[in-house]
Amino acid sequence: MSRPKKERRVKEPPKIQGMKPIGVPGKLLDKVILSIDEYEALRLADYEGMAHQNAADRMEVSRPTFTRLIEKARKKMAESIIEVKDLIIEGGTYSFKQILVRCINCGIVSMFKPESKINNCPECESDNIIHLNNWFHKQGCLNGRGRNGKGKGHGNW
Ligand SMILES: [Zn+2]
Repeated sequence: MSRPKKERRVKEPPKIQGMKPIGVPGKLLDKVILSIDEYEALRLADYEGMAHQNAADRMEVSRPTFTRLIEKARKKMAESIIEVKDLIIEGGTYSFKQILVRCINCGIVSMFKPESKINNCPECESDNIIHLNNWFHKQGCLNGRGRNGKGKGHGNW
């Protein structure tokens, strides 16, 4: 058994729970699971272009840990394309720094501080909103999924 891992700091939840290949019947596809902390490594290093040491500091992990995360993330992204697999984003060891809420009515995604209680869209005041943190919160709690017994991530809010 591995030691319990320290939660990695993740800015906010991904805006999707995964991606599907186009042109192949979904039920035939295998899945590749990208954890939330791997997603964050990808976002910081490859999307924002941040140096690895800075990105490691941001996530509150060591640089070698960050390097492992980003290498796994890249490998999984490539695997999902080359081997034609569903990409599922879930699990990992993390806490979110902020809340994202998507409004079903107007489509706007809004950001809030972790302790905020949000019931309405700040743009159109609709109460038809989705808390994106809950996607990952629920999945993490419902079943201790993750091949390494991980998947205990929570929203910290
Ligand atoms: Zn709205």
